[in-house]
Amino acid sequence: MNVTHLECALCGLRHEARTLQNLCVECGKPLLVRYDLAAAAKGFEAAWPEKWGDRLSANGRSILARDSSLWRYREVLPVDDAANVVSFGEGWTPLIPVKALAATLPVKLDLYIKDEGQNPTQSFKARGMAAAISMAKELGVRRVAVPSAGNAAGALAAYAARAGMEAFIFMPADTPKANVIECRQTGANVTLVDGLITDCGKIVAERKEAEGWFDVSTLKEPYRVEGKKTMGYELAEQMSTGAIATGGERNREMTIPRLPDVILYPTGGGTGLIGMWKAFDEMEQMGWIGRERPRMVSVQSETCAPIVRAFNEGKRFADEFENAATVASGLRVPKAIGDFLILDAIRASGGTAVSVTDAELVAAVAEIGALTGIFAAPEGAACLPALRKLIAEGQVRKGESVVMFNTGAGVKYLECFQ
Ligand SMILES: *Cc1c(COP(=O)(O)O)cnc(C)c1O
Repeated sequence: MNVTHLECALCGLRHEARTLQNLCVECGKPLLVRYDLAAAAKGFEAAWPEKWGDRLSANGRSILARDSSLWRYREVLPVDDAANVVSFGEGWTPLIPVKALAATLPVKLDLYIKDEGQNPTQSFKARGMAAAISMAKELGVRRVAVPSAGNAAGALAAYAARAGMEAFIFMPADTPKANVIECRQTGANVTLVDGLITDCGKIVAERKEAEGWFDVSTLKEPYRVEGKKTMGYELAEQMSTGAIATGGERNREMTIPRLPDVILYPTGGGTGLIGMWKAFDEMEQMGWIGRERPRMVSVQSETCAPIVRAFNEGKRFADEFENAATVASGLRVPKAIGDFLILDAIRASGGTAVSVTDAELVAAVAEIGALTGIFAAPEGAACLPALRKLIAEGQVRKGESVVMFNTGAGVKYLECFQ
């Protein structure tokens, strides 16, 4: 609708929007969707009963008069014809204040969990797949394929089934069992591979032409990141309107900024972090926010930390991480195609990258669970020990607002807790 073109994230080369595309034809890097943001801003105009940023919604409800799903931001999403939207109502997840958990920290923080485990298929992969499968439908795709560390597969299987497409899924053999089962039960063709997600990716790349598959690997097609960027829009809308899950009334003592000071994001391929960073730029161009940005923090497992290593070494591209292993399967990405986009965003934001051990992140699941009632995915739980490290180093300070992303649901990882 407001899409103008696709643009290579590295070399800037312009690509056609209304045709199926994977990577930049020149340099092989990800393509990003560009919009006519003036037109988008105009489209949103009528949906704002009050002006953005007015803190008048004392009833604690959002002020954008739209669906409670990520499609509330349709002006900055790529689907042209609403009839092509494939949806289970994903997105618009609650931003939950977690005071009892915050009270265990050595400094007083305004601490929130954005609970992405409440998405369809129990992870934020639903956001990306909703956008990708809707666009695949719009562009006439019948067969889709993906390498996945777990949750992307479950989401793809569900959205493909809903769209009436065939899904071909390649996962490491030691992927959490729930992911394998959900894919099979929702009609996907599942192949377990003795290797890592990168090995699965190679198989898809080799076979896709002969099989007629469209490759929906993250950032190897332009639309999953568009779905995930809506987390950035939601944070801004929820924080500036007080649409926070306080159980009804907005907490009036809370000073509500438009964006948090710090975002902790468990990083595998980095799609969500890259997406949120893109969303902040778009919002600034539409006049919704100023130049302020949260400090973006990538959280990884010590035994698969390519971004943390590259950040510490001052590199723009991350080397492949050898012998990558972690029970937080969503973080088991030894080489991310969007590495430079993650690292650029972290640095531009004044943020950082932190790793924690698997023992720390698994222990954090129970700690978060007991103090908040949220049964977090181990990936999301990793944010807590990471936050403690940042506080100890003085990188997060008293009075700051901090959002931790719980990217999935603990129920999918029963093997971790036995
Ligand atoms: C995929 C996944 C991640 C990593 O997400 P990226 O945006 O690719 O970095 C984190 N947590 C969970 C639960 C996931 O499924």
